[in-house]
Amino acid sequence: MREIATELWLFSGFPPNAVNVYLAADVLIDAATRWGKRRLLKQLGNRSLSLVALTHVHPDHQGCAAMLCRRYQVGLACHEADVATMQGERPMQPPNAIVRTASRFWAGPPYPVSPVLHEGDSVAGFRVIHAPGHTPGHIVLFRDQDRVAIVGDVLNGMNIFTGLPGLHLPPSVFCTDEEENRRSVRRLAELEPRILCFGHGPPLRDRKAFDRFLKRIAL
Ligand SMILES: [Zn+2]
Ligand SMILES: [Zn+2]
Repeated sequence: MREIATELWLFSGFPPNAVNVYLAADVLIDAATRWGKRRLLKQLGNRSLSLVALTHVHPDHQGCAAMLCRRYQVGLACHEADVATMQGERPMQPPNAIVRTASRFWAGPPYPVSPVLHEGDSVAGFRVIHAPGHTPGHIVLFRDQDRVAIVGDVLNGMNIFTGLPGLHLPPSVFCTDEEENRRSVRRLAELEPRILCFGHGPPLRDRKAFDRFLKRIAL
């Protein structure tokens, strides 16, 4: 893994940046698909964890969450509006055939959520910002001191079908409410982030590229 900002590391993976996992101090942010076990354990080495936190509950973000929480004896945190999905009380959102198929191949088992996250909570020095639309409980983690934003899938830093880097809104088939997600992008823009750390795609430090993208999608 490599350090992309103070006390924030990005796990390596193959293909690079296809499915991102971060370590913020000793908090794991997102947990890949269930096939990521070897990759994550190898890179964690003998580090300790204090928490596994999810930007949102999708099969490519919660896959190893239950396994890691059991192994490290730590809690699993996600926003209250995604708790039912993580606990297996509601299907992955939105409940369409593509998301259902992705879940069958990638998702990890349900696991009880604790602590439940709310707007304004703090996770490893990052502020929890509720940013729904991709899923009901999607969050952005924002660190005010250096304006680093972990944005999950509010925005993709690559074309998730071709793997080519570039800013995109997440495909509508994976979103519960596209208009709401656009409002979340606007909210993210108002924070004036200096580094965008995506669920998919390489970190972006180019503010002008972000501004051009905002103009392109008419935000
Ligand atoms: Zn997602
Ligand atoms: Zn994703």
